[in-house]
Amino acid sequence: MPEGDTVWNTARVLQRALAGARLTGSDFRVPQLAATDLTGWTVRESASRGKHLLLRLAATDAAPWTLHSHLRMDGAWRAYAPGERWTARPAHLIRVVLRSPAAVAVGYHLHELALVPTADEESLVGHLGPDLLGPDWDADEAVHRLAADPDRTIGEALLDQRNLAGVGNLYKCEVLFLRGVSPWTPVGAVPDLPGTVALAQRLLAANRGRWTQSTTGVLRRGGTSYVYGRRAQPCRRCGTAIRKEELGERVTYWCPACQPGVELPPNGQDRLR
Ligand SMILES: [Zn+2]
Repeated sequence: MPEGDTVWNTARVLQRALAGARLTGSDFRVPQLAATDLTGWTVRESASRGKHLLLRLAATDAAPWTLHSHLRMDGAWRAYAPGERWTARPAHLIRVVLRSPAAVAVGYHLHELALVPTADEESLVGHLGPDLLGPDWDADEAVHRLAADPDRTIGEALLDQRNLAGVGNLYKCEVLFLRGVSPWTPVGAVPDLPGTVALAQRLLAANRGRWTQSTTGVLRRGGTSYVYGRRAQPCRRCGTAIRKEELGERVTYWCPACQPGVELPPNGQDRLR
């Protein structure tokens, strides 16, 4: 599940593979960039902001441009050695290939692929709230933004990247379980909003640098989460069956006993019944 930590890790993969390198070829397989050729451009750096990837590069002595991409639910970047087979995903999912003398970066099923002047980067990511894994993380500002809409459910508010950037379904569910807060609780009724935000930041930070996302500290398969992906399985704390609610791409898992209070999604029937 690409959330802030996965995107942070991906930015680091691209940084190691390409930073400082002069591209020997590029191949864009999306209509909006089909005519773009970055051959001869130098990759300056790779960065992440929330769930957005920013690859900054420039032609000689020119102002830098940013290649933006978003992984959403299913995108990925992989770095290969020249000549190595690209095995991560089927070839028809490839959206871009960047070649350097030492590495080939392949972007699979990327979304929102765009090339903009770095000076205009804010047009792509300026709407985002504080980045949980960014150098300028600002917990007070994130709390302030969340609290600005007290009637919204906390589950939805945590996913809104304008409040804080980096949380997806996995961390939303796990943070609220660990805080004992029902996902359907209005933000204004969450007992300790700063504590909730601080925990989200700690969980994401703990998963930087590894690809297995764990909120339990356990890395073995089946043990990495408290509630996420565990529908109908017994809660690790109280044994109650974990519930699941799905609304489009928004998935919520919770323990009705450990996270009491508001029981059901507002104006939605429990789809488990
Ligand atoms: Zn429980």
